Amino acid sequence: MTFRASVLTLFPDAFPGVLDVSIIGTALKKGIWELETVDIRAFGLGKHRTVDDSPSGGGAGLVMRADVAAAAIDSVGAGHPDGDGRPRIYLSPRGKPLTQARVRELAAGPGVVLLCGRFEGLDERVIEGRALEEVSLGDFVLAGGEVAAMTLLEACIRLLPGVAGNEASLEEESFETGLLEHPHYTRPQVWEGREIPAVLTSGDHGKVRDWRRNQALELTKARRPDLYAASRDDAQTSARKIPRDSKT
Ligand code: SAH
Repeated sequence: MTFRASVLTLFPDAFPGVLDVSIIGTALKKGIWELETVDIRAFGLGKHRTVDDSPSGGGAGLVMRADVAAAAIDSVGAGHPDGDGRPRIYLSPRGKPLTQARVRELAAGPGVVLLCGRFEGLDERVIEGRALEEVSLGDFVLAGGEVAAMTLLEACIRLLPGVAGNEASLEEESFETGLLEHPHYTRPQVWEGREIPAVLTSGDHGKVRDWRRNQALELTKARRPDLYAASRDDAQTSARKIPRDSKT
């Protein structure tokens, strides 16, 4: 099943951009995913194809019009009252922060419809009226949603079957285990006087596994106490569950 991405943007020329290189670009050429861009400007009003207007209540900047945005959204999956079953996402700093768990869910589905904002953002009524899911990349503000859309797509597409060279490597990555990943090393054995940790060249796979697990725990504890605490909670919950489940 092809993962279908539709991107609604005022800058369709920005796509596929970085999504055309490396494994993601190869997957696009192979048809593992497909990309449709919809130029919001094409739905603009009047001779100048106006898409925005000044904010009601005053203040600086411009707001994308609800009618224009809705026309662009409705052109995707036309004929279906709720689109075509793909989640409709508005990239927005007010949204729920994107997580690897949400990326996995999206990657397992039919694809996504992504709306990229510009200016001050989008008229609130179209967010409600088209039940858009707001998704944020993090607590900072971009100039537009295009880079955010590319980020979301790249995160999803690398998980699709046949995209990554080594699918096993996806399992061990940061966040997949609830922890940050252990450090990596490769040749040369000594670089600027720094050696590869001896355990990694010992050939003892059990020890290597333990060392990596320990490093992941220590790193997560130091850098992301929030993730560390959550992983401890999960470990306790599953430890409590096992004896109860095994009795029934
Ligand atoms: N005035 C808005 C910011 C508008 S930035 C506010 O304060 O919330 C213009 C566009 O960039 C937004 O409509 C959104 O599509 C995109 N954008 C900016 N920051 C983002 C972020 N952290 N995550 C996802 N999209 C973002």
